[in-house]
Amino acid sequence: MIDPTASTGTAAAADDVIVVAIDGPAGSGKSSVSKQVARRLGFGYLDTGAAYRALAWHALDHGADTSDSASVLDVVGDFDYAISLDPDDYWVRVGETDVTAAIREPRVTEAVSGVARVPAVRQNVNALFRGLVRGSGRPGVVVEGRDITTVVAPDAPVRVLLTADPAVRAARRSAELTGHDSTAVADALHRRDAQDSTVVDFLTAAPGVEVVDSTDLDFEQTVDAVLDVVRSVVPTQTGARDGR
Ligand code: C5P
Repeated sequence: MIDPTASTGTAAAADDVIVVAIDGPAGSGKSSVSKQVARRLGFGYLDTGAAYRALAWHALDHGADTSDSASVLDVVGDFDYAISLDPDDYWVRVGETDVTAAIREPRVTEAVSGVARVPAVRQNVNALFRGLVRGSGRPGVVVEGRDITTVVAPDAPVRVLLTADPAVRAARRSAELTGHDSTAVADALHRRDAQDSTVVDFLTAAPGVEVVDSTDLDFEQTVDAVLDVVRSVVPTQTGARDGR
């Protein structure tokens, strides 16, 4: 269903790629922070939520019922997925279609938890993620999602849970989605958190996972807090680059 070799990496596959695993709920700043951390380290950036979103988009495109596992599994067979690991050139494709913007549409966001709770889907995409990391052609990859620190890369040298107060997360998401009713945005975010947390626990840190709480931090402070964790664990390989 999914080709794990389809990455934008150029070098040969390597098992010594440093994984910086970052989990957290919606609105924690995970995506933008992870992307910037990747830039500062010269690492690749892997947005794992995009795979679930792209599959939800694909399922809707085929008229599947995303609340029904059998219906989701019916359309998984021809799910042809590719994603860029370049933090400065981010794109997501399904077949020939660029779905980078479409997978952020509210109808996809509403449907995504339905596809993400199907165990066979999770197993497949997890294999895809590991293949993308190995073939990244980069010294390391910042991998962000919900179960990266616990399931996808539990042995990663750097594992971070990025949290923030629920009200702050809702306000941030609302600011991103201009033109949408803020109460409706907050309701949708909390509903999705509730659905997702029945599948994986991304609100409490597993043993050995560092918590970075961004409630009172601005963007650059959050990036620096994550970089501090990275440097404390792998100081020699990851002297962050100048420039932000
Ligand atoms: O991070 P993002 O909001 O783009 O994730 C979209 C959805 O993908 C989540 O709501 C969740 O259902 C699913 N997801 C997941 N495991 C991950 C990443 C995302 O189940 N590692």
